[in-house]
Amino acid sequence: MFTPSLFRWTLLGCLYAYATRVSARSIRSETIKVADPTVLILGGGVAGVIAARTLYENGITDFIIVEARDELGGRMQTETIGVPGNEWVVERGPNWVQGTQTGDGPENPIWGLVKKHGVKTQANDWYGSMTTYDETGYVDYLDVFNDSSNEYTTLTVAAGARVQRQLVDLNARSGYSLIGSKPQTPAEKACEYYQFDWEYAQTPEESSFIASSWGNNFTYDTDVGGFSDTNQMSIDQRGFKYFIQAEAEEFLQPQQLMLNSTVTNITYSSSGVNVTLTDGTLLVADYALCTFSLGVLQNDDVSFEPSLPDWKQEAIQSMVMATYTKIFLQFEDDFWFGTQMAIYADTTRGRYPVWQNMNLTEFFPGSGIVFVTVTGEYSVRIEALSDEQVQAEVMGVLQAMYPNVTIPQPTAFYFPRWHTNPLFRGSYSNWPASFFNGHHENLRATVDQRLWFAGEATSLKYFGFLHGAYFEGLDVGMSLAECIRAGGCAGLAHIPEITNPYPYKT
Ligand SMILES: Cc1cc2nc3c(=O)[nH]c(=O)nc-3n(C[C@H](O)[C@H](O)[C@H](O)COP(=O)(O)OP(=O)(O)OC[C@H]3O[C@@H](n4cnc5c(N)ncnc54)[C@H](O)[C@@H]3O)c2cc1C
Repeated sequence: MFTPSLFRWTLLGCLYAYATRVSARSIRSETIKVADPTVLILGGGVAGVIAARTLYENGITDFIIVEARDELGGRMQTETIGVPGNEWVVERGPNWVQGTQTGDGPENPIWGLVKKHGVKTQANDWYGSMTTYDETGYVDYLDVFNDSSNEYTTLTVAAGARVQRQLVDLNARSGYSLIGSKPQTPAEKACEYYQFDWEYAQTPEESSFIASSWGNNFTYDTDVGGFSDTNQMSIDQRGFKYFIQAEAEEFLQPQQLMLNSTVTNITYSSSGVNVTLTDGTLLVADYALCTFSLGVLQNDDVSFEPSLPDWKQEAIQSMVMATYTKIFLQFEDDFWFGTQMAIYADTTRGRYPVWQNMNLTEFFPGSGIVFVTVTGEYSVRIEALSDEQVQAEVMGVLQAMYPNVTIPQPTAFYFPRWHTNPLFRGSYSNWPASFFNGHHENLRATVDQRLWFAGEATSLKYFGFLHGAYFEGLDVGMSLAECIRAGGCAGLAHIPEITNPYPYKT
């Protein structure tokens, strides 16, 4: 069994050996050419690991995963929070397998890996275990909540009908209005937020009517090939990431992984790819598979030489990298709701609206941990505030929810800043109404035969999800393997100019 630190030391040994040899050949005084594998897989998240496994399974072992962080997993990351003696591993990033399997129907591959590697999960009831609040405290508006849940289902059905009739996309706000759903009160708006923004990390105004509906249906609706309507939450104290790291251990050799290696430049042509790291290391390969997040590509954190073609840049800049922020609190004593979930309806839509109780027997009993989620522009806003300012706001909301309780200060407080993190620049992609099918094809299309792309954002059916990253790593990895075996290929095709939307191919 190898560990990240073993990887690192083995790699440093290899680096030293290469450095000695290469400096003797004096390629460039400031650079060290580490290796020239056939493929550089840029990024070690789910897409990168599954692409590597796919190459390996297809007999191609001459690859290296290049990852900036000190472990594999990408957005699957943990944080240990709590007072000494009551510390818990919580998930900064994903924590649910969304859709598992129904009978012997299609299985979410993340669920398959979770079971294979024994990751501990717990069914999370998003709809049947709910308490509702507003600015005056506890108020029962479960009827509004149930109506809102039904309206979301109607929205997805209406979107499906548009696809069948090949009608153009609209934004989801138009979709809601067309089905007669026009939330007015804080409670109605908070319930709509729970159905919509809490999943897509953006508002209905900012999201595609059609794509947000199929994002839901292809995952949850068994009638259209979805897995199941269940959400399994990781409660594994090794972290949710354990399954992807354990999967990598089954095939990855130490020399196939470079951790702590941040890419600054990708220079490509139809004959190969050069990749430069922050320390000046130059890696040369026949192909590169870029799995960096859409946010990284949008923000010029990595430069491309030559600049990416116009059709690729338009695709990258037209999808949206949204942000989803979980804010964790630990208290000595439990004073909050006994259900799994709670909604707080503020007069400002999206202000600390979705709460989750981890203190229950089936989750982290005795932990005293509760967390609240914000998304979209609200996430961007709080990332610009200090922890103390955010904590004060969250405590103000809790005090509004419990006007008759003297709430003590939390013993622990933590939230990650995904939007400003230069390795992610957000949490996951969201599809706006102005992103056409052709843009999607161009987002995943190959540039100059040698530069390939994969990740959750390139998934048509499952953008945003872990299983989207998995399927793209598999699919693009398979195409790349075929290309290499054939001695070269044009790669995944692009459309030079998107002149109009055309019918969706799913
Ligand atoms: C807060 C949050 C909650 C989520 N909840 C869920 C959920 O419950 N269920 C679900 O299915 N999905 C969820 N997701 C989405 C899921 O995490 C992603 O879809 C998935 O992890 C994306 O995998 P990926 O391989 O495409 O990209 P990534 O995981 O981003 O992998 C890309 C890798 O590239 C590396 N990298 C970036 N820049 C460089 C550089 N310059 N040099 C070298 N390496 C670099 C990064 O470190 C990263 O490891 C959530 C995400 C977040 C952030």
